[in-house]
Amino acid sequence: MKTYLGYINDDKLRWSATSGGIGTAIIKYLFETKRIETAVTFEFNARELKYFPKLIYSFDEYESVGSIYNEVDLVAFIKEKVLEIRGGFACFCLPCQCKAVRHILANNEHESFIIGLTCSSQQSVEATEYLLKRMNLNKLDVQGLRYRGNGWPSGIQITMKDGMTKQIPNNNSMWTEIFHSRLFVMPRCLRCNETIAANADITLADPWSLPVAKTDKVGHTLCFVMTKEGENIFDNMKKTGLITSVPMNEVESLMTQITTILRKRLYKRGGRKLNLFLRLLKSEVYRKFVLSNSVWFKLHCRLLKPFFER
Ligand SMILES: Cc1cc2nc3c(=O)[nH]c(=O)nc-3n(C[C@H](O)[C@H](O)[C@H](O)COP(=O)(O)OP(=O)(O)OC[C@H]3O[C@@H](n4cnc5c(N)ncnc54)[C@H](O)[C@@H]3O)c2cc1C
Ligand code: SF4
Repeated sequence: MKTYLGYINDDKLRWSATSGGIGTAIIKYLFETKRIETAVTFEFNARELKYFPKLIYSFDEYESVGSIYNEVDLVAFIKEKVLEIRGGFACFCLPCQCKAVRHILANNEHESFIIGLTCSSQQSVEATEYLLKRMNLNKLDVQGLRYRGNGWPSGIQITMKDGMTKQIPNNNSMWTEIFHSRLFVMPRCLRCNETIAANADITLADPWSLPVAKTDKVGHTLCFVMTKEGENIFDNMKKTGLITSVPMNEVESLMTQITTILRKRLYKRGGRKLNLFLRLLKSEVYRKFVLSNSVWFKLHCRLLKPFFER
């Protein structure tokens, strides 16, 4: 595995991306060099308050949407749409989706390039609904919503139908509390032991905890190059001037994800106290109670800490 810190050289694409836009650069490069004919983009559906995947056949159709923190059943989508896939195929996958997506593509004789997204957890749409409730916003009035992108480290950007916009930061905010409350996390994430997508060609991450993350205002992507094909594409993107990158120390890069890696190990190990807490999280009575007002919610977040911290 080789690791790099980099960004896409196109200022507009870099700004709108989650971190440094290397993910966007890969899709652009693969289409432009005709290595792929099909990829996946996402569209926001305001009525359902969710992003949905869509097949695309050129980079012009790609929408830079940033990280999506509502559950997307990508494997089911690719299974359903497999007959509409032409030629080589690329898409972004969370670690738990990589193998299944590759398998579907191989079974249908398509070359695939998998861009892994490092992953702490994924949330149900109720997390976003709860955020709106706490902000006293009516979900029926929401027109657009982005979880990330438009600068670094950015945050949730909500556009209302009357044109008003609201922003909640990504760090130390109400959204951070909601995200880490474990009340909306997808159940499989509480038993997951994968953080960096080992089955991808290139896995991308936010450079949290690296010095650059503190000073940057635009964004850098941390890249874990996993396969020979990934290495070849990464080198060519650099040679052709699509991206800028510097090599990173592998251990230092992995250390940026250490909190998540250790937390996931803790999940796997289980133990009576942890299992009891996980059961409590599933209890409808408990959930109703802690979500009934912000004081109980905050108390829940405080109670949670000793169970999940190192
Ligand atoms: C649920 C989730 C959890 C994450 N957790 C971490 C973490 O703990 N630590 C960390 O370092 N990084 C995490 N990431 C990855 C990180 O936020 C960035 O996605 C990554 O750094 C790529 O940045 P980029 O600017 O190169 O990507 P971009 O150029 O912005 O491209 C990203 C593209 O990924 C696609 N995408 C976004 N969300 C999803 C999704 N849910 N499923 C499939 N495709 C999607 C979209 O097409 C989007 O345009 C997470 C991402 C997600 C979606
Ligand atoms: S935490 Fe694990 S199971 Fe959950 S979405 Fe991420 S990779 Fe998948």
